Amino acid sequence: PDQVARWIVEFVDHVEGGPETADLARARAAGEPGREFGGRLAVVTGAGSGIGRATAKAFAAEGARVVVADIDEAAAKRTVDEIGVRGGEAYVYGVDVADADAMERFAEYVRDTFGVPDVVVNNAGIGVAGSLLDMPEEDWRRIVGVNLDGVYRGCRLFGRQMADRGEGGHLVNLSSMAAYLPTAALPAYSATKAAVLQLSECLRLDLADHGIGVTAVCPGVVDTPITRNARYLGVPPEVERRMREEAAQAFGRRGYPPERVAAAILRAVRADRPVLPVTAESRVARRLAGIVPAA
Ligand code: NAD
Repeated sequence: PDQVARWIVEFVDHVEGGPETADLARARAAGEPGREFGGRLAVVTGAGSGIGRATAKAFAAEGARVVVADIDEAAAKRTVDEIGVRGGEAYVYGVDVADADAMERFAEYVRDTFGVPDVVVNNAGIGVAGSLLDMPEEDWRRIVGVNLDGVYRGCRLFGRQMADRGEGGHLVNLSSMAAYLPTAALPAYSATKAAVLQLSECLRLDLADHGIGVTAVCPGVVDTPITRNARYLGVPPEVERRMREEAAQAFGRRGYPPERVAAAILRAVRADRPVLPVTAESRVARRLAGIVPAA
């Protein structure tokens, strides 16, 4: 709980008015487009929807060139079009992060076409709900293949490029509140997300000497297609009800807006230190689950 409390404080620090340079604050006040990531290259996987799309748009809005990767190329194209309308620079790439060879080709293509990325957001993920007793091996393999192997590949392939270039970089991996909130109905999903969290912590130590930052982001319930189906949450109905209520009160929608998670990701990269976005509803969920006492 002490560790979680520390992360909560860090998160609030970052998201609710955390460090922002004076130049940036002035530019925003003057209504100028941000240039904070001007000249930098960001790669975002799963950027055809939800958090990935919001993150790609946020980096582009700050001047970064963005590679928008997704297994659904048409969806990725829509993200690129939305960025283009606002004068941003973005490129589509269709890739299945669960396919080892395709990921090798993707990493080579990015390096050869655009250069070594400064930021890689390993965001592509899927949810598979249901009791483990009824989960066929192929479902288990699929979710581990996307949520864990996909993150491993993104970190290894692009981390290697960053290390060889010798100019640092930042890897951001999408974990989840599910990494530390046990649920009966999301055993495989939660296991992959806990693994992503620990993988990121280890990598942070491993890559520090190369000047490469590594951040695991653990959102609560974000209002995206993955969570519109309530059964996907897999938490007890009472927890789900309270989480939805909190979100509705705070944001007027069924979950945390993906743009808020994108903002947390940018702040983590900017500050080059890890954040653990713990949302109001996830605090309630953990309280109800008895993991942390009501404070
Ligand atoms: P989403 O379903 O809206 O978007 C996921 C995107 O990933 C889709 O565009 C999909 O086509 C793409 N994708 C799926 N499998 C892929 C693959 N094998 N290769 C490449 N792309 C693939 O989901 P989201 O809510 O935006 O979630 C994004 C990430 O955030 C996921 O890792 C998810 O587990 C995590 N997350 C989401 C929530 C939430 O409440 N929505 C909470 C915590 C963590």
